[in-house]
Amino acid sequence: MLNRRQLVALGALVATVIASPALAQSKLKVVASFSILGDLVRNVGGERIELAVLVGPNSDAHVYAPTPADAKTVGEAKVVFVNGLGLEGWMTRLVKAAGAKAPAIVVSQGIKSLRMEDEHNAGRMTTDPHAWQSVGNARIYVGNIRAGLIAADPAGKNVYEANAKAYLARLDALEREVLAAIAKIPADRRRIITTHDAFGYFAAAYGVEFIAPAGVSTEAEPSAKAVATIIDQIKRQKIPAVFLENVSDPRLIQQIARETGAKVGGTLYSDALSVPQGPAASYIEMMRNNIRELGQALGG
Ligand code: ZN
Repeated sequence: MLNRRQLVALGALVATVIASPALAQSKLKVVASFSILGDLVRNVGGERIELAVLVGPNSDAHVYAPTPADAKTVGEAKVVFVNGLGLEGWMTRLVKAAGAKAPAIVVSQGIKSLRMEDEHNAGRMTTDPHAWQSVGNARIYVGNIRAGLIAADPAGKNVYEANAKAYLARLDALEREVLAAIAKIPADRRRIITTHDAFGYFAAAYGVEFIAPAGVSTEAEPSAKAVATIIDQIKRQKIPAVFLENVSDPRLIQQIARETGAKVGGTLYSDALSVPQGPAASYIEMMRNNIRELGQALGG
């Protein structure tokens, strides 16, 4: 005979076995291409979704090489969210290769995209994919995510709408923080130098000038000429600080700092979140980290 404790344990075990598959089945399988987008999707999807993020913390979505496991994940998903604007070209091939039935939803749909000169093909224009660096654009991402989840799981409409509403309110508060932080930096010091050109939307939205030797993608090394031009500009304009990025090799920025006397102002999170214990574990924490670093280095 089983004693009472064993019966309770057995009961719990049976409950787990019965509940797990049902629970797993009831959750909507969703894929997000990279960590920042994954956080936005998690905030709207909440408990109703089972989220897989392909390019994780501190990893570079420009140059990712998908694995066979990624193809399986995408093949099983009911919804796939991508940034678009040329960030993850590999995603189109992956969705095709995986035979995915789920629609790939481009969350940047509806934003006003920025065009800039391609650093590696002089005279040619390219689209800047880093739209999430403006909180206003993140709001548009959230709207597209909400619509995509409701289309795939109409029964969850009320939940997705409530989650999105609560999160959008937090984004409104975040944007007020960003504006207040930039306003504290003297206007002539609002110049920011990073390795790759990831902050064009931030610059346009918040009145900061960003300068980067590597262009909008991390795929190619910056040219010696581009680096020399920036070193000259830092000296001429007496730019006080340069910044590292979590997805870029720090050596170039360290070299520029040495050659100009500008200080290294800390690490900005551009294309990926930090690990959960780090300073940029969510989109909101990432933006807060960046304005804190900018304020400390440029605040005067
Ligand atoms: Zn980038």
